Amino acid sequence: MKKIAGSLITGYLFRICQYENNSMKTIIRTKIVDVLQCKDYGATVHLKGWVRTRRGNKQVGFIALNDGSTIKNVQIVVNIETFAEKILKAITTGACIGVNGILTESPGQEQNAEIQAKEIHIYGTADPAAYPLQKKGHTLEFLREIAHLRPRTNTFGAIFRIRHHMAIAIHRFFHERGFFYFHTPIITGSDCEGAGQMFQVTTLNLCDPKKDRNGSIDYACDFFGKPTNLTVSGQLEGELAAMALGAIYTFGPTFRAENSYTPRHLAEFWMIEPEVAFNEIEENMQLAEDFIKYCVRWALDNCMDDIEFLNNMFDKELIERLYFVLKQNFIRLTYTEGIQILEDAVAKGHAFEFPVHWGADLAAEHERYLVEDHFKCPVILTDYPKEIKSFYMKQNEDGKTVRAMDVLFPKIGEIIGGSQREEDHDKLLKRAQEMDVPTKDIWWYLDTRRFGTAPHSGFGLGFERLLLFVTGMANIRDVIPFPRTPNNAEF
Ligand code: ATP
Ligand code: MN
Repeated sequence: MKKIAGSLITGYLFRICQYENNSMKTIIRTKIVDVLQCKDYGATVHLKGWVRTRRGNKQVGFIALNDGSTIKNVQIVVNIETFAEKILKAITTGACIGVNGILTESPGQEQNAEIQAKEIHIYGTADPAAYPLQKKGHTLEFLREIAHLRPRTNTFGAIFRIRHHMAIAIHRFFHERGFFYFHTPIITGSDCEGAGQMFQVTTLNLCDPKKDRNGSIDYACDFFGKPTNLTVSGQLEGELAAMALGAIYTFGPTFRAENSYTPRHLAEFWMIEPEVAFNEIEENMQLAEDFIKYCVRWALDNCMDDIEFLNNMFDKELIERLYFVLKQNFIRLTYTEGIQILEDAVAKGHAFEFPVHWGADLAAEHERYLVEDHFKCPVILTDYPKEIKSFYMKQNEDGKTVRAMDVLFPKIGEIIGGSQREEDHDKLLKRAQEMDVPTKDIWWYLDTRRFGTAPHSGFGLGFERLLLFVTGMANIRDVIPFPRTPNNAEF
């Protein structure tokens, strides 16, 4: 038995073995990403994948085969005479096939190598009259309605490969810096995380819940013996861990029942939340900037085929914008300075939909004005009015502002929200009470300030907001496989 072809990038061996009687037996299939790198012409390879297109004439057919390992297809050349009619008829867009064939140098311009098919096995047909993904381009809106099939398009293949690579980049970034990945709960008993409307988790019979003497729902009968919700953030628990492990990050799903139907909000999204003991706001800003740049650099280094495709299809400035962000030092200024710039813009005739004045929450249009029109650079805004930020943010001496920081990005607006945390127990408790936070639910959080408290900081990066930036897509529903938004939980 003799091995006639070696292994390549994915480490997936393509071991084609030749037996004594000269019969060929494939042991492991080759991925297309590997075969396209291979110059081992004459070797027999075995590929499996889905037919993207088929063209040709009566003598010869050309199949573009894709197996998801790369955006590129491999060309399968089929000598029509040598295949049964039944097989040939089944090779239509969307069908799943296996091919044994000879790797040959391609005369075509588009690819180095192609496969001369020797055997074709049909795994699954796809009736052309019914299969929705035909060759013509489909709108992103239409593809959202067939989210079960859209990963098979070039666009969503590219996006989901990039999504994977970004998750890897995130873990590597923190791991390399000595952060520990810490898992915070998804079901929470506190409803004071304060970041948005929550989804309730219950096993009560909603048609006939048990009532107590006052006629209120008796949560003692509920699964956890109290009301519970899906988490909107892992931060509070993340802080507990930072007070022990020093530097941690969370990376998990979060849920917000906001009824906002915007291209930047999902009801279920993934968030990365580092929390670091002894970091003050400046170090927190530097961490955020280094973190995003690391992820963008990783995408450019590892996903260029996919990024180039998205650049050409959707956003001709994507690659330029990614390199641009790497080069810039993010501009840092206070909320108060930011408001001044926005007010000056209004005075000069710039019209915003939402009002601008000190104390107002910034809308995406304001954030994007600062980033895209004024500075032409990512911006980190700090020291927001305490009224528009959460109770746990460190209070400044002025009594009016807190040590918050939002990272604002071109095309996105807010990509990161974070702060230095209030480490003083009494100040924290007082602020929580002023803001009507039910403090009895977070006695454990307040305890961190009673026992060995320390200055610390952290932030939350919305994973899908990062993906919007890296892919250049315009709608957040197109960077998560199965988006959850108001009135939409199909698939
Ligand atoms: P926004 O003002 O954009 O609604 P936020 O201030 O409510 O965001 P934070 O609570 O600061 O958001 O959450 C941290 C990060 O999580 C945000 O900077 C953003 O990247 C992301 N994020 C927040 N809400 C959503 C959402 N509904 N869908 C997707 N990402 C979100
Ligand atoms: Mn925020």
